[in-house]
Amino acid sequence: MKVVVLGAGIGGLAVASRLRGQGYDVILLEKNKDVGGKASLIKLDGYSFDAGPSLFTYPDWLDDVFLSCNKNPRDYYTYQELTTITRYFFNDKSFFDVFSDLDKTALSVESATLFSKARFTSLIHYWKRIYTYSEKTFLKGKILINWSFFKTAISWLFNIGFRSIFLSMATYNKLFVNNQKVELFLNRFATYTGSSPYNTPAFMNQLSVVELSRGAYYPNGGIYSIPKALEKLAIDLGVSIRKQANVVGISKNSDKWNVITSVENFSADLVISNMDFCVTKRLLGEKYELPTTSLSSSGVVFYWGVAKQFDKLKLHNVFFSENYKKEFSQIFNSCVIPEQPTVYVNVTSKIDANHAKNGCENWFVMVNVPSSLEICNKESIAKLKKAVINMLSSHLAENIEPLIEQEQLLTPNTLAENTNSYKGSIYGLNQNSLVKIMSRKPNKDNKHKGLFHVGGTVHPGGGIPLALLSAKNTAELIKNEYYAY
Ligand SMILES: Cc1cc2nc3c(=O)[nH]c(=O)nc-3n(C[C@H](O)[C@H](O)[C@H](O)COP(=O)(O)OP(=O)(O)OC[C@H]3O[C@@H](n4cnc5c(N)ncnc54)[C@H](O)[C@@H]3O)c2cc1C
Repeated sequence: MKVVVLGAGIGGLAVASRLRGQGYDVILLEKNKDVGGKASLIKLDGYSFDAGPSLFTYPDWLDDVFLSCNKNPRDYYTYQELTTITRYFFNDKSFFDVFSDLDKTALSVESATLFSKARFTSLIHYWKRIYTYSEKTFLKGKILINWSFFKTAISWLFNIGFRSIFLSMATYNKLFVNNQKVELFLNRFATYTGSSPYNTPAFMNQLSVVELSRGAYYPNGGIYSIPKALEKLAIDLGVSIRKQANVVGISKNSDKWNVITSVENFSADLVISNMDFCVTKRLLGEKYELPTTSLSSSGVVFYWGVAKQFDKLKLHNVFFSENYKKEFSQIFNSCVIPEQPTVYVNVTSKIDANHAKNGCENWFVMVNVPSSLEICNKESIAKLKKAVINMLSSHLAENIEPLIEQEQLLTPNTLAENTNSYKGSIYGLNQNSLVKIMSRKPNKDNKHKGLFHVGGTVHPGGGIPLALLSAKNTAELIKNEYYAY
């Protein structure tokens, strides 16, 4: 049985190996010179940066790809657990740290916010309970529309409680947390799905558990070592990887798929697309248009080589904006770059010293923006850069502008160009309502037999762990329906 996988992002690489490991004949097509998609590598003079993802969670789900192919993951990549995960900075210049130890986190939160340690701990335990239930029912489920799915969905709704369904995350946190800094902190987890805390339902507070209870990790060498490890696995298993093969059309003739690329055509029994869901539909010739307001956020990233080291910065750092509500309204309602953005700074040279020159740091500086190809131009980027520099300089008590000696930029336009993501969206559709959450695109195409979807724009969701889970779900769906030989 011949399977063609379209795209060598993390989801595509994982499903290719899983299926090859089960005996399928697998060809993996990638338009770029290298694998990784959003998780690629950027090198500037003396500095290296992970282009997209920076927070690595659920290493066991990555290990499972190797184990399912009877390989030892430690022969392919290694990682370490972080004891200090993220530093959160607030407007009044106070900050707290999230540690791998919840007690320590709660203490740090209490001293910066006066929110009691006991309340914080019990809040997180509450969301942990909800999360465990959701993981079992939805994340690891396969979303097949049948009676068992409806039964699961109804029992899930009763279990999580109606107020976390009908109130937005921000409203719920205002009512039941009522501490400005802790609210901001919890509201930020909506961005893990590229959504707005002012729209996404309150039960998405459970995403805080990912960082606060499941821990965060660092793959040695950086995130880019993940797609490289998956590529090596695929090669070892005998997946045929064709790079610089841009897929320009997909069609079906009786029971065979025809995949047209810039170099040659491929015939297949099954096609698995790791491309953005919207892009796949368009390549099938379907009219598929979505407005920016339906899409997840995109990002502007400044990759800066900074000629100084700052002890105040950790590996992951978040600097909250002055007016979070306005920021999200600008991103999701007005669809413009926020004037005063929240800024995320990732510095991998804190762990991997060779990612920056001696005495320097590699700053990955990200701001959430709408998924739109019309918002970035010279003026808007210059204005944004100024706002970011002002904010970081004020927190670090030093003008950082003269310290920036190298720079590269990611915008929705370059993200769309590099990875073919629709309008530069990071996670496909946003999760700004219950209906949107429940109607995420399934791994098995509803319309075309023999077509499957994996990656961050389909079920169960965006980010490395969920893209890996989509690959697992899809490999199982295929194994249950099609013999390998
Ligand atoms: C700025 C940024 C920050 C992020 N931060 C995090 C984070 O901290 N933690 C986290 O877990 N996740 C994060 N993510 C999301 C994460 O990168 C993705 O969800 C994850 O890498 C899964 O990707 P994927 O499998 O959907 O494939 P993608 O990375 O989208 O790859 C798709 C692949 O398909 C290829 N392709 C597209 N069209 C064609 C075509 N026509 N022909 C051939 N090949 C094609 C592309 O070139 C690409 O290689 C971030 C993403 C970005 C952009």
